[in-house]
Amino acid sequence: MAKKQFKAESKQLLNLMIHSIYTHKEIFLRELISNASDAIDKIYYKALTDESISFNSADYYIRLEPNKASRTLRVIDTGIGMTKEELEDNLGTIAKSGSLNFKKEYELKDGYDIIGQFGVGFYSAFMVADKVTVISRALGSHEGYKWESEGESGYTIEPCAKENVGTEIVLHIKSNTEEENYDEFLEEYRLRALVKKYSDFIRYPIKMDIHERRLKEGEKDEYDDVVEEQILNSMVPIWRKNKSELTDEDYERFYSEKHFGFDKPVAHLHIKTEGSVRYNAILFIPEKTPFDFYTKDFEKGLELYSSGVMIMSKCPDLLPDYFSFVRGIVESDDLSLNISRELLQHNRQLKLIAKNIKNKIKAELENLIKNDREKYEAFYQSFGRQLKFGTYNSFGADKEDLQDLLMFYSSSEKKMVTLSEYVARMKEDQKHIYYAAGESIDRIDKMPQTEMVRDKGYEILYLTEDVDEFAIQVLMSYKEKTFKSVSASDVDIETDEEKKQAETQAQDDKALFDKMKELLSGKIKDIRLSKRLKSHPVCLVSDGAVSIEMEKILKTMPGSPNITAEKVLEINPSHSVYAALKNAFEHDEEKFKLFTDLLYNQALLMEGLSVEDPLAFSNNICKLMG
Ligand code: ADP
Repeated sequence: MAKKQFKAESKQLLNLMIHSIYTHKEIFLRELISNASDAIDKIYYKALTDESISFNSADYYIRLEPNKASRTLRVIDTGIGMTKEELEDNLGTIAKSGSLNFKKEYELKDGYDIIGQFGVGFYSAFMVADKVTVISRALGSHEGYKWESEGESGYTIEPCAKENVGTEIVLHIKSNTEEENYDEFLEEYRLRALVKKYSDFIRYPIKMDIHERRLKEGEKDEYDDVVEEQILNSMVPIWRKNKSELTDEDYERFYSEKHFGFDKPVAHLHIKTEGSVRYNAILFIPEKTPFDFYTKDFEKGLELYSSGVMIMSKCPDLLPDYFSFVRGIVESDDLSLNISRELLQHNRQLKLIAKNIKNKIKAELENLIKNDREKYEAFYQSFGRQLKFGTYNSFGADKEDLQDLLMFYSSSEKKMVTLSEYVARMKEDQKHIYYAAGESIDRIDKMPQTEMVRDKGYEILYLTEDVDEFAIQVLMSYKEKTFKSVSASDVDIETDEEKKQAETQAQDDKALFDKMKELLSGKIKDIRLSKRLKSHPVCLVSDGAVSIEMEKILKTMPGSPNITAEKVLEINPSHSVYAALKNAFEHDEEKFKLFTDLLYNQALLMEGLSVEDPLAFSNNICKLMG
C-alpha cells in the first residue's frame, strides 16, 4: 500500500512531538480524550436538530483499554467518527486541525508555547507512541477506515471493518528508555490519575476496566480477583460545583485545560447568581497578553453554555472591549439552545448577564489593587494599555468603569499609583492633577517643564505610553480635579503675586519679545516669560488641546492628518542667558538674531523634536564660538 506524505508543517510538528522536548508527555491523554469528547458533542448537536439520530446518553462514552501484553493503549469513543477524507484531511494536515496556524516568525523550538496556545491535539500521541492506528467509522457511513502512521515517514489509509460509529485510537506505546518511563501509560492507576487530573469535567463517562483484589465475602484472608468497569471522571462541569469543593489548582488546571492561556491567571471569579439574572460563570484575569492580543486578529469572547451544551465558543457580546482580555465560560439555562448569533446579540437576558459580568470584573480588579498590588501591577503591565484605549475610545462614556483602574508612574512615589491615591495626597493649595508626557521615565525626569511643579512639592504623573495623554484628555478630570500638563501654556502654578511680577516684567521687555516673535513668526504662536523654569533658559509649551507629545505620536501614525501643537516659547528671566539676550537686543542686532535662533532650536531639541535646519544651527554655534 502506498504511503502518503504529511504536509510540511505537520511533519515539523510531528518531529517535535516524536523527539519531544515537552516534559509533560502525559498530556497526550488529555488531548485525545478532549478530541473524543468533541466528537461526541458533534453527534449530540446533530441529534438536537435531526430526528433520525437518537441520542441515548448511555450510548455515548469514552473508554480506555490498556494492554500490557501488546503494549497498546486504546482510546475508544462513540462520537461522530471520520470518513476516509476526514481521516486524511484532519490527521494528515496540521493546518486543518483547527487552531494551528504556523507563523513564519514562530519558534518551533518552544513546544510548551505551541501546546499551550494551540493545543496540538492528536499529534501529541506521538510523544508516547511509536505507532498510532486510528480506526474510524463516520456517522451515516457503513464502512470503516484504518489510518496508520509510524511518524515522519508518512501514513497509510485502508478500509477496515468497524461495528459501530465512532473512533478507536490505538497507541503502540514506546519502550522505556533510560530517561523516560513509558510503561506507566499502560498502568490502570496511572491512567485513572491522569483522567482525574486533566479530564474530570468531561461531560461523558470515561470508562476503564479496573482489576482489583477484593476480600471474599465472609472470609478473612481469601481474595477474589475482580474486574469491574468503572467511570473515572466526575463529569460535573467545574462551574456547577461549589466553590468550597474547589482549590486554586483546580481553577488553574481548568484554565490550562481549556487553553485559555499558558500563563497563570492573576485571579479567577466563580460566579453563581440566582434571581433576575441567572447564570454560572468562571472567569479568569490573565497575567500575560496572548501573542496576538494587540493585533486585529484577536477575538474577544467567553464560552457560552446553556443546559450543559456549548452554544458559542466565543460570545463577544458578553464582554466590553476594554475587558477583552478576560477568558472563561458562562452558562445560563435561560438562553435557548437554538438561538442564532444575531438574535443572541439582542437578547435581553444576555445583556443583563454581560452587565453583571462587567461589574464583577471591575470589582475584582479593584479588589486586586487594594489587596494584591503586585499581581495587579503584573496584570496592568500587560493590559493597562487596553484599559487606557477603552477610556479613549469611548470618549469618556466608560469613564466611571475605568478611571479607578488606571495607574501611572509617580514622580514622588517612584512607582505606579492610582488617581485616587494621587488625589488623596494633593497639597492644600494644589489645584490640578499634574502630568508630564514623554517617552520614558528618565526623559521626563529631566524635562525643564517639571522643575517648578516639582519645586512646589506637587506630585507629577508620568505618561510614557502613546495612548496615555489621549486617555487623560478624554477623562478631563478626576474627583473634580482637572488634569494639567506641566507643558501646558497655562500651567496655573504661580501665586497672584508672582503673576503680577511677571506681568510687569513682560511689560518692560515687550519690545524684545515682539522682535523675537517677529523673527520666529510661523514657527511659534507666542513668546512668554516663564515661571516654571529654574535651571534651564528656555522650554516649549503648548496652547490648546494638542500637546507636543501628541503631535509627535500623531506624526508616527500612517495616514493621520497633519495636526500640530500650538507652541509657545518660554524664557527663564532669572537665567544668565536672559541677560545676555537683553544685552544683545540693545546693542547688537546680529547677535540677537543668532541667540533667538539658538534658543528656539535648543527648546526643540529638549522636547525631542529635531532642529529645523541642522546645518544652519551648527554654523550658528560656530559663529558664537569663533
Ligand atoms: P484540534 O482538536 O485542535 O482540531 P487535532 O489534531 O486534535 O486538532 O484533531 C484534528 C481533527 O481531527 C479534529 O478537529 C477533528 O475534526 C478530528 N478528530 C480528532 N480526533 C477525533 C475523534 N476521536 N473523533 C472524530 N474526529 C476526530
